[in-house]
Amino acid sequence: MKVTINKQCMGDRNCNKLCPEVFEYDEDQLLSIVKFEEIPEKYHDLVRQAAKECVPVAIEIEE
Ligand code: SF4
Repeated sequence: MKVTINKQCMGDRNCNKLCPEVFEYDEDQLLSIVKFEEIPEKYHDLVRQAAKECVPVAIEIEE
């Protein structure tokens, strides 16, 4: 699984709270960033949940 965050991110940090192991907030870019090139299996469910909850649909998942 690969994850990208597009420019629609509005910086509410919901994904960071849900799964801080994967998502981090970048204070310079003012959007969340992904810590992994390839997401470890154990985080897949949480990442899918974060994508569902992301209001501006900024989290793009490639399975
Ligand atoms: S949940 Fe979506 S809008 Fe909120 S910080 Fe994460 S990527 Fe950005």
